[in-house]
Amino acid sequence: MLEIKKILVANRGEIALRIMRTAREMGIKTVAVYSEIDRTAPHTLYADEAYFIGASPSKESYLIGERIIEVAKKANADAIHPGYGFLSENAEFSEAVTNAGLIFIGPSGESIRTMGDKISAKQTVEKYDIPLVPGVARAVEDKTEAKQIAEQVGYPVLIKASAGGGGKGMRVVENSEEFDEQMNRAVSEAIQAFGNGAVFIEKFITKPKHIEIQVVADKHGNVVHLFERECSVQRRHQKVVEEAPSSCLTPEIREAMGQCAVQVAKSCNYHGAGTVEFIVDEKLNFYFLEMNTRLQVEHPVTELITGIDIVKEMIHIAEGKELSVKQEHLKIIGHAIEVRICAEDPDNNFLPDVGTLQTYRRPQGNGIRIDDGVEEGMTIPIFYDPMIGKLIAYGENRNEAIQKLTRAIDEFQISGIKTTLPFGKFVINHPAFKSGNFDTRFVSLYFKPDEEKKSTDSENEKIAAALSNYLLMSGSQKATTQSQVAVNSAWQKNRKRF
Ligand code: ADP
Repeated sequence: MLEIKKILVANRGEIALRIMRTAREMGIKTVAVYSEIDRTAPHTLYADEAYFIGASPSKESYLIGERIIEVAKKANADAIHPGYGFLSENAEFSEAVTNAGLIFIGPSGESIRTMGDKISAKQTVEKYDIPLVPGVARAVEDKTEAKQIAEQVGYPVLIKASAGGGGKGMRVVENSEEFDEQMNRAVSEAIQAFGNGAVFIEKFITKPKHIEIQVVADKHGNVVHLFERECSVQRRHQKVVEEAPSSCLTPEIREAMGQCAVQVAKSCNYHGAGTVEFIVDEKLNFYFLEMNTRLQVEHPVTELITGIDIVKEMIHIAEGKELSVKQEHLKIIGHAIEVRICAEDPDNNFLPDVGTLQTYRRPQGNGIRIDDGVEEGMTIPIFYDPMIGKLIAYGENRNEAIQKLTRAIDEFQISGIKTTLPFGKFVINHPAFKSGNFDTRFVSLYFKPDEEKKSTDSENEKIAAALSNYLLMSGSQKATTQSQVAVNSAWQKNRKRF
């Protein structure tokens, strides 16, 4: 059996650090690669060795597979972990790593290829009785045919790019009048984003929950699932708050989804860690969406409720070891919730907010995990994803996790850039979230930053009025005491807004 002694991490930021930490715990040496702007980035400094791979834009550094493989050889690394994003779901890269005599810590090129294309993924799993969203599992180019399919499926429908990802290339069509325009847009968006205009059509589930199952599979045919993650809180079809377990699943549905996910992994001879995404309707019918053939951003919530280090498991699988766990021994213990810390302005349509982290002080304490890749004083590079880290809380139950996460968000001191943390606090304390019954419309239904702002403005006006009242009346003992209470409590409340 192979033993990995040195891993090159072909990534940056929080995920590079997260992988290196586990490697270090396992006594494995780590190699970082870095772009121009990442010369002194935390992941570059953390690794045992670090190599420069090019200019800051990812196309000139983190996406150049050949160069990264060359570095791995030069550094005498045995394996490459791709993290998520960048080259993680690139079938050619997985194959090139293997062909270079190195171990790719992830699935084979063939599995990536099958699942990387939404249409081929649907066609593959269809044979195994996996429930699919009603629609067609093939590329449609002809507009007249596409419209006929849409009529058959029944509006509303969703036009999706076959090569899609990150919520791009998707268009909802409410009725036949809108169809042509939305079809044109979907195709041109798909060409622009993925260089591939193939689209397919499926029923648009109107109150959808996004629930996914984590799987791990070894090279000996053993596959287990590590239960679900509820990821319905999304903006622009991208996740912001994730939790495990989901509060709406029954043990029976959980088991059925888990079995389906295991079957999906088997259908493409999968090995490594992967995520099978499902869309769940109001009546808790679930349908296969896609499989992500990599470590997922939100994997920590699963680690916290199962006690399994997924990166460690990935490394063992890559070495050819059997899974360390059996399905019947796995249990959900407690509850975990994650908020992504993105350098974005929630009040401004979640647009990226670049700048320097003037203050960056992390919360601490029982049940808090922070996976991040930044330090105070650092300028957030504009070249990469705006997600700078993740704040995760673990509690004995959901309510305790919400309380811990709320406390941690209040303690987190960040200035210089806007982040999604205050938005995360809004989400987890919203009655719909607390009820556990919500869907992917959460943000559009409940998050109204303009109204929030108005109420903050009127709160500020109240503070100003109380203050002037206080100053005017400061001669009167009674008025002073009352106004002071008003001023103090209003300021106290506002202090938490950053
Ligand atoms: P991507 O690869 O771009 O992430 P997915 O197929 O995973 O695309 O879909 C992303 C999100 O879009 C889902 O989490 C869900 O919120 C929404 N979505 C996808 N398919 C449907 C559907 N048929 N009906 C309603 N919403 C959908």
